[in-house]
Amino acid sequence: MDTIAAALQAVRGRIARAAVAAGRNPPEVALLAVSKSWPAKRVQEAYLAGQTAFGENYLQEALRKMEALAGLPLEWHFIGPIQSNKTRAIAERFSWVHSVEREKIAERLSQARRKNAPPLKVCLQVNVSGEATKSGVSPEAVLALARQVARLPRLELRGLMAIPEPLPTATAQQASFRLLRELKERLCAEGISLDTLSMGMSQDLEAAIAEGATMVRVGTAIFGEREEA
Ligand SMILES: *Cc1c(COP(=O)(O)O)cnc(C)c1O
Repeated sequence: MDTIAAALQAVRGRIARAAVAAGRNPPEVALLAVSKSWPAKRVQEAYLAGQTAFGENYLQEALRKMEALAGLPLEWHFIGPIQSNKTRAIAERFSWVHSVEREKIAERLSQARRKNAPPLKVCLQVNVSGEATKSGVSPEAVLALARQVARLPRLELRGLMAIPEPLPTATAQQASFRLLRELKERLCAEGISLDTLSMGMSQDLEAAIAEGATMVRVGTAIFGEREEA
């Protein structure tokens, strides 16, 4: 068995054990394979091992891989910061966007989504770590943003996403994920129905699943250590 197939199997095992430990059904937790920095060949290997959903942070890099793998039935998720001049290509080429944090960007994505394509599925990225990170809407502003995004015709608001600062203990890490879950529950109580919590990465997916993650975004544990630019 090649290394990516073995690593994928190990990650699926971690997800299943964490779900069972939390009293949840393993199929409730989807695996998004984060393929940023890895060539199309690696994505293809993961596909041959049964993985179809892939996350990318950089548009140009993602477009190259999509082109190379155009024959495969892959589902692409955009998970990186969104510049407004990239919204058209993102809306045209991806199925999901996890990193919406401003109304202006959401409007542009909705305008650019083709009428004959299904609505673009989106998550709002929330800054659950306060001053420590800059990306994401603040917890105080998420309800207002959710109301705006829910009105946009070519977007389907599905949930919330967060990348908490790494913290030294599992307990502390879990508190960040709990905050995101509680925000989702608050929005649902306000009549905004959401079914997705995109949280948990290679290092902390167990803590995220314990707090209700429905999609974990895993790169390193599948593909190996990236050489950061
Ligand atoms: C890189 C990245 C991941 C994957 O992180 P790993 O630690 O490699 O599993 C997940 N989510 C986002 C938004 C990322 O940028």
